[in-house]
Amino acid sequence: MDYLRISITDRCNERCLYCMPEGYKGWELQRDHLSAGEIIRVVRVAVGLGFRKFRLTGGEPLVRSDVVEMVRAMAAIPGLECIGLSTNGTRLAPAAQSLRDAGLRTVNISLDALDPQIYRRITHGDVAAVLAGIRAAVAARFERVKLNCVLMRGVNEQELWPLVLFAAEHGLPLRLIELMPLTRTDVLTEKNFLPLGEAMQILGQRDELIPQPDRKLGHGPAKYYLLQHTGALVGFIGAMTNLHFCEACNKMRLTADGKIRPCLGNHGEIDLRATLRDSRDDGPLRAVLQEALRVKPLEHQFRDQYSPGRPMTAIGG
Ligand code: SAM
Repeated sequence: MDYLRISITDRCNERCLYCMPEGYKGWELQRDHLSAGEIIRVVRVAVGLGFRKFRLTGGEPLVRSDVVEMVRAMAAIPGLECIGLSTNGTRLAPAAQSLRDAGLRTVNISLDALDPQIYRRITHGDVAAVLAGIRAAVAARFERVKLNCVLMRGVNEQELWPLVLFAAEHGLPLRLIELMPLTRTDVLTEKNFLPLGEAMQILGQRDELIPQPDRKLGHGPAKYYLLQHTGALVGFIGAMTNLHFCEACNKMRLTADGKIRPCLGNHGEIDLRATLRDSRDDGPLRAVLQEALRVKPLEHQFRDQYSPGRPMTAIGG
């Protein structure tokens, strides 16, 4: 277990229908958000326990104004190997170069559709801003820029092929992600769930998918295929249909309000914020992280009629 995903805010400037329930009012109070100093302290202690890879996420991490300083401070911690960022890309264009200069190494950008209307229907946002963010990320020469697309039947399946062509054209890996039950129970239904197998069939009608079993891009569970003719590299992330999904799980999450969540698909969380604020000594903090490692479940519960407690925006993607 060497990978910690840190949500630095539960706020987001988009409203993706699979991530934040419509009319969501469950925002954490600002005073309950961890400060940059508190986050850096957790990272330092986590590095001492063997964590090596960190990803800043949210909500939308780029709505927080101190993100560049946070990256810079993290990058200076000895033993830390990699800092990544997950973003919707809409605010990336003006920030990309400063983030790169501060020590950010990899960026994952959500892109569920290229068609502006479909993109807006899913996210309520503006795809032109995301495309500008992608161009800026490429120009800033991050070590890796990946595109993430959540699959939804009847919503963006006709966008899959245009996304593949876009990924090939820009030389960026595209990851297709199965919808997980993380907003309301009715977001994940038989009707709108598009399994990876079917997405593969859709792409297979246009190109040949060649498995890349040795291709590891980053630290996640994606299985990669090269599309022979387009040259696109497509990763498939199937938390719902891949029964071996959890076997190689190497990560835990820290929520913006300071809870350690050992597994995305399990309600268990351990409060770290109180310890952070009550104790100047790092020992108790270390003990909380070690306890979280001890209780990490072997498997998620998404297939067991899981009912989301906190939505994805509050947990951190
Ligand atoms: N705002 C950033 C973004 O858009 O990437 C970071 C946070 S977002 C929660 C991180 C990732 O989680 C995104 O790739 C998003 O598509 C994915 N995600 C959110 N809700 C999901 C769900 N219900 N099922 C599958 N993936 C989901």
